[in-house]
Amino acid sequence: MTIDHRDFPRRHLFDLAKGLIYLDGNSLGPPVKGSEDIAYSVIDSEWKKELISAWNTCGWIELPHTVGNLLAPIIGVSLDTISMGDTLSVKLFQVLAAAVEMRPKRKVVLTDSGNFPSDLYIANGLLDTLGRGHQLKITKPDQVIKKINDEVAVVCLTHVDYRTGRKHDMAEITTRAHECGSVVIWDLAHSAGALPLELETIQAEFAVGCTYKYLNGGPGAPAFVYVRPDLVSSIQPVMPGWLGHKKPFSMDIRYTPAKGVGRFRIGTPSVIQFKILEHALALWKNVDLYKLYDQSVVLSELFIAEMKARCPSLELISPSNPTQRGSQVSFASKHAYPLIQSLIDRKVIGDFREPNILRFGLAPLYVDENQVIAAVQILEQVINERVWQQDKYQTKKKVT
Ligand SMILES: *Cc1c(COP(=O)(O)O)cnc(C)c1O
Repeated sequence: MTIDHRDFPRRHLFDLAKGLIYLDGNSLGPPVKGSEDIAYSVIDSEWKKELISAWNTCGWIELPHTVGNLLAPIIGVSLDTISMGDTLSVKLFQVLAAAVEMRPKRKVVLTDSGNFPSDLYIANGLLDTLGRGHQLKITKPDQVIKKINDEVAVVCLTHVDYRTGRKHDMAEITTRAHECGSVVIWDLAHSAGALPLELETIQAEFAVGCTYKYLNGGPGAPAFVYVRPDLVSSIQPVMPGWLGHKKPFSMDIRYTPAKGVGRFRIGTPSVIQFKILEHALALWKNVDLYKLYDQSVVLSELFIAEMKARCPSLELISPSNPTQRGSQVSFASKHAYPLIQSLIDRKVIGDFREPNILRFGLAPLYVDENQVIAAVQILEQVINERVWQQDKYQTKKKVT
């Protein structure tokens, strides 16, 4: 597909300082312009003026549903199949609990070692709490397909590896899992807003994700949960909170789940965060995700070629084949941490991941080819001039 270069970047839509090269939108997206006005107006025009009426008059109570519908086309699902709220870790706990109950005779949950630690902790924590002899099997990413068999209750994976950007073949794995009678959960943390997704077409049972990475919802933005619509009415959610009740204000002492995916709601939504996210999601109406991803490939191929030429001491640890990557590239170096700190000091923002990884997110909405070239030139200079050896770059901060 040819890319219309007028499509990207759209940096004017974001609040990013001039000269800043922001390659960390895979971890925390930048604010969409006007985000602070939204936060202010929720407080000033809604909370302050309407007080508790705002739950009705400003649609606050519906936000987990209405904002979910803005997200639906971005992950390739129908309207009314997404609920939002809480954090990704909590949503994963809920769907994994539901998925395990769908295959009561099976005891294995299959995941891989490229998964995000929180996903692994949550899975182990849930299975321990159940106390019914379930086991979390952690295989290597490239072994997943081989390890799916008729003992596996649930295949629980993150689509794009947070460290390397390696991408699973969602359709192939989902099909294989279904052949073996396993239920599938996809974590889309590093996919939503980065790649075109056809979640409904592949028929996966569940998906979860967060909205503060490529979707720019801001720190603490609500997570999302998708449940295949033919299944949702038979699921009794764990952590059944009052707002997932069919009629919360009946104040019934017995829980009856809401009709659809709304039953995955727990408690009060974070209204200000929701409104900021609603604002951020509006821009996706005019984004063709296929074109966006094509441009991300242009950027990542350029990044890799420039790195090969200018910084050959750093080893590419992302797949070299772009069809196997998400929207980031990662490199390994013994000096990864001080290198990243030196870059940050020079207005090139990437991040460090244990044990030796420099990670660069390439979001075409606000990153262009010139910035990619400039970022690598600055890194080359940092290496050649041994800038990274300075003391101030050695001590690890709490968040890396
Ligand atoms: C970012 C990320 C998380 C973070 O979970 P929170 O509950 O939002 O803190 C979890 N899993 C994956 C795969 C991630 O990339």
